[in-house]
Amino acid sequence: MPDPSRSVTPRGFINFDHFTDSYGATVTVRESSAALAPHVWVFVEGGTTAAEPGTPGIPEGRKNDGSAHLNVEQATRLRDALDAFIRERGADPEFPATWAGGHALVVEFGDEELIARCQCGVLLGERAPSTPLDEFGQRWERHVMERSDG
Ligand SMILES: [Zn+2]
Repeated sequence: MPDPSRSVTPRGFINFDHFTDSYGATVTVRESSAALAPHVWVFVEGGTTAAEPGTPGIPEGRKNDGSAHLNVEQATRLRDALDAFIRERGADPEFPATWAGGHALVVEFGDEELIARCQCGVLLGERAPSTPLDEFGQRWERHVMERSDG
């Protein structure tokens, strides 16, 4: 599912997501420029512990020191942004047509048909059970070849 919060920095790095937590801190999940291996930054900037001035037991305006305070929706966004980084940068580019490469062929039973997908989610087709699966393999090979050309 494409995320409308995804953006690209002026230097060309992906912001996988960018949102505000419960106490006003800005949470940014950004691709790092580290050259040796893929890395991601999780920036938490701003925000204070007291949601409203005068909240009993919580000092007013205390800085969050880089901590994010997340509700279920915000935690889901953080998880999805990290999942996107892992999926897109963790794959082995030398062997795309493997599980580690992120593009293995997956065939499953639907209600009354076989459904073929690439591991990345691309639908490759549906067929009646007990019919040859060659067409799935050909579409999958074409899909992987197109990916490695691009
Ligand atoms: Zn794929």
